[in-house]
Amino acid sequence: MQSWNLKSFTRQWPLGLAVTTLWACSAAPMPAWVPLPTSSRPAVMAAASAPAEASAAPVVPAAQVAASAAASAGAASAPAPMVESPGVAARFPDPLVSYNTPAFEPGHAGFTSNAELRTLMHGLVRDGQGAANATTVRLLQVGSSQTGIPLEALQFSREPVPLASTGATASPARPTVLLVGEQHGDEPAGGEALIVVAQELAQGALAPLLDRINVVILPRANPDGAAADRRLTASGIDENRDHLLLRTPEAQAQAQLEREFKPVVVVDAHEYSAFGPYPAKFDALPRFDALVQYAMVANLPGFVTKASEEWFRQPMLQSLKAHGLSTEWYYTTSADPADKKVSMGGVQPDTMRNVTGLRNAVSFLIESRGVGLGRTHLLRRVYTQVTAITSVLKSAAARADDMQKLRGYVDAEVAAKACRGEMIVAAQPTPSEYNLRMLDPLTGADKTVTVAWDSALELHSLKVRARPCGYWLGADQTDAVLRLRALGLQVQRLDEAGELRGETYTVTARDFGERNDVRGSIADAGGVVHVKVERVAALIDARAGSYYVGLDQPLANLAIAALEPDTQSSYVTHRIVTDVARQARVLMQPALKMTPME
Ligand SMILES: [Zn+2]
Repeated sequence: MQSWNLKSFTRQWPLGLAVTTLWACSAAPMPAWVPLPTSSRPAVMAAASAPAEASAAPVVPAAQVAASAAASAGAASAPAPMVESPGVAARFPDPLVSYNTPAFEPGHAGFTSNAELRTLMHGLVRDGQGAANATTVRLLQVGSSQTGIPLEALQFSREPVPLASTGATASPARPTVLLVGEQHGDEPAGGEALIVVAQELAQGALAPLLDRINVVILPRANPDGAAADRRLTASGIDENRDHLLLRTPEAQAQAQLEREFKPVVVVDAHEYSAFGPYPAKFDALPRFDALVQYAMVANLPGFVTKASEEWFRQPMLQSLKAHGLSTEWYYTTSADPADKKVSMGGVQPDTMRNVTGLRNAVSFLIESRGVGLGRTHLLRRVYTQVTAITSVLKSAAARADDMQKLRGYVDAEVAAKACRGEMIVAAQPTPSEYNLRMLDPLTGADKTVTVAWDSALELHSLKVRARPCGYWLGADQTDAVLRLRALGLQVQRLDEAGELRGETYTVTARDFGERNDVRGSIADAGGVVHVKVERVAALIDARAGSYYVGLDQPLANLAIAALEPDTQSSYVTHRIVTDVARQARVLMQPALKMTPME
C-alpha cells in the first residue's frame, strides 16, 4: 500500500538560474553551467485557508507504523531521572529576561501543549498586503503526525509582492531561513524558543530583519513525541535520522518545506542530556549552555563550510559569550559505560543538519543543556536557544545578498561535477584527543577531562569512486523514485528503450544488521541489509519507463548518498531499492529521449 501522491511534487529546477557574480571570497574560476530542460512551475504551499495540499504529502503506510511501533515498544528512551547538586545548579542562574510562551504563564506545569501551540500560531497569522514594513505571517500546513496532529509552520515575510490567492509566495526575492524545533519530543527548549522568535518576528525586536530575509518556523516537528515526552516519533523511528529515507510523515513535512522554500540557512534546535552516561564514564557532568555544530558530511561543498564557520558560527560564539552563555562543539557519547569515546555529531547523510548541508545550505544544530532536567533551568535553556537563533537570523540578514550568491554558485558547482572527477562514498571522523571542560557533579567546579574524541571537523575518506553522470533505476523502483523526488531531486523517465554505458553492481557479501550512529544503535523500524559490492562495466539494457537521475543538478550529492548501495544510509541498505541489480551507475551522458517527471 503506497499513499505517495506524485502530483504533490513539483520540479525544483530554478527558472533561468543565472550565476553572474562569483561569491566575493572565491578566487575559483566560474565552473561551466550544465544546462537542463528548464520548464518549471512555482512551488505552491497550502495556506491556512487551503489545507488540501497538506493531505497530498506522502505518509508512512499504516502497517509500517504499527510494525515499527511494536518493534520499538521496548526501546529505551528517557535516561533514569537524576537531580543536580546545588553546586551544579548554581552554575546555571536564571537570566534577567521574561518570555510569553504558554509554558511560562504563572502556574503552568510542563511545557506548551500541542493545543496551546496551535492556538498561539494561528493567532500570529496576519496579512500585510504587501504594504511597506508590514509583515505577512502565513500558516503552512505540511501534513500530519503519525497520530494525526497537524504539522504546522509559519512563514514570516515582508516581500513587496502581492500574494497569490492560494497564499503561495512565488519566487521570493529574499532568501529564506528555516527554523525547526523539537524533532525529538523530550527536548522542549527549542520549541519554546521558536515561539519566542515567532513572536518577536511578528511584532517585536526581530521584525526589521524581514526587510532582508524571509523566515519559516516549524516549532514542533515531532508533536507526538512532545505529547509523550519522548525522543522518538510514534512509530519508534528517530525523526532526525530520517531525512534521506523519509519514512515518517514528520521528516517528509520538513523535506516539503525544504523543497518549497529552498532555505539558504537552516537551524535544527535540540537539547542534550544534562546527565546521560557522563557521571558513570567520567565522574563529571556536561557544563555548556549550548553545543553547536554545522553540517559535516562527505561531498559537502567547501564554500558551505566556509560560510557556516565565518559568517555564522563565529558571530554566534561572540553573541553567546556576550550574553554570558558558554558553548562548545556538539558532542555525545554512547550509553555503554565501558565506551569512553566522545564524538562530535555524526557524519552520515541522515540527520537534518547533514542532509540540509547536501542541499547546499548553511545548516546548524543548536543544542541547549536540557534533557533529563524537566523544567529546571528552562528560562536559561530557552534564552540560550533564542540567543543563538537570533544570531543566525542577524547573520543571515546581514549576508542576505552573499547567501543568494553563494547558493547560486554552489548549486552550479555541484551540478557541473557530473561525469567528472571523484566523489566520496563513505567517510569517517578523525580519532583524536580533546580536553573537554566538564563539571564536578558534587561541587559544580570546572573539571577538565581528557577524552578520546572523534572529530568531525576533518573527515577521512573510506571509499572513493568516479563520479558518474547519473544513476539508472529500473521501472519497478517507484518507491525510490518517489523518495528522491520528495527530497527535491529531478528524476527523468525514459521514453524509449536503449543502452546506457556504465557500471552495474554485484553483491559479494550480505549482512543483516542494525544501523548505528555516534550514540550507538539507532531506534528504527526493522533491521537493515549491509551489502558489499563489486562494480562491473556494462551496457545497461534500459527499458522505456525506467528512470534516470542525472547528477547535473544542485542536489546531486543527495542522489549519491541514497544510491551508492554499500553505505549505511543507502536505499539498498534500507530495502527501498529492492535489488542491487535494479540500479546502475551511468558513466556517459545518455542520448536517449527522456521526460522529466512532473
Ligand atoms: Zn535531539
